[in-house]
Amino acid sequence: MVVSCYGYLKRQLFDIRKLLEETHMIDDTFIEMRLAIGVVNNFGSNIFSDTVLKQASITLDHAVSQPDLYHVFSEKLELDFRFRLEMLRELETALTSKSCDLSMSYQPKLDLKTREVKKVEALIRWNNKKFGFVSPVTFIPIAEKAGLITQVTYWVINQVIQDLSHWKAQGINIQVAINLSVQDFNDENLLDYINEKLQLAQLNSDVLSFEITESEIISDHNNAIALLTEFNQKGFSLSIDDFGTGYSSLSYLKNLPVKELKIDKSFILKLDQQMDDQRIVQTIISLARSFNLEVVAEGVENKETLQLLKDWGCDWIQGYYISKPMPFEMVAEWLSRHNAS
Ligand code: C2E
Ligand code: MG
Ligand code: MG
Repeated sequence: MVVSCYGYLKRQLFDIRKLLEETHMIDDTFIEMRLAIGVVNNFGSNIFSDTVLKQASITLDHAVSQPDLYHVFSEKLELDFRFRLEMLRELETALTSKSCDLSMSYQPKLDLKTREVKKVEALIRWNNKKFGFVSPVTFIPIAEKAGLITQVTYWVINQVIQDLSHWKAQGINIQVAINLSVQDFNDENLLDYINEKLQLAQLNSDVLSFEITESEIISDHNNAIALLTEFNQKGFSLSIDDFGTGYSSLSYLKNLPVKELKIDKSFILKLDQQMDDQRIVQTIISLARSFNLEVVAEGVENKETLQLLKDWGCDWIQGYYISKPMPFEMVAEWLSRHNAS
């Protein structure tokens, strides 16, 4: 009964939407109007009550990210919202307090030709007293949505440069890759901030590289190219992360000032067993070659996969087979053990 009622309502609302959505022409530019619809059941309560307005705002916010721009309020939606809000509060505290529960871990990238490890990827970790271990897969998108990711990026940059200084003092020369988010593309101060921090620590720009996911580059193409070009001009290496998941075209790759493609781990995790993945990975490697890009495969979990990638001319591998991400304190010892063997 409820479903059919909502079904009828949805059809009516979509009809109204058709009437309201129009394309306008302003100064030779077509502006398309899209209308998102959030539905809140407020039978018996005041439509302008704080509760209903809050529920409407949460529902509309969710509707905007739905393929049909439509969503009906549910208690689960409100619970998820409160969970995210609570997590954001904790994250904000972590970013500003001295006894911070964030940390960095580092995962080696192995050079398949020389067997050396001269690069690592910096991956953030959060062990919170309320939520326990929170994966970056959970909290990074929440921070991005709330506009808090810039603070996370600055925190990561500070921590990585501090760790690099310690390694330099121990005679360890290593390049660290930092993951950037799409919102970092709009931060005009980021590059100056990084350069200033590097200068203070007396480190060259080649100690850092940056990874940006393929889907993020696509979602904000012009800003991405502008930022990548600036980073490239300042001497930082750049990688396209999670390559193969964003459906980017070849012409598009040609315009990017990047040095490296990182094949997404979804194609690598079962590479030794899946023929489809093998065809895709071989194609990506030869594509990268034709654009003079180096290739990293992430998610290598066994020897068979390593051997296949080596045979096909992949340059670098990263994965649990080499090492899981490890805290700063373990890196120097791991490197000396690796190099000795
Ligand atoms: P990513 O940049 O693609 O990082 C690779 C992810 O794959 C990491 O997960 C790593 O632990 C995992 N991984 C590496 N080798 C293997 C393997 O052999 N098997 C499996 N199953 N997994 C492997 P993690 O650390 O959970 O990070 C997930 C994502 O969160 C990252 O994907 C990145 O997009 C984001 N992230 C992590 N740290 C940061 C950060 O400091 N800033 C930003 N903006 N994003 C970050
Ligand atoms: Mg990455
Ligand atoms: Mg990746």
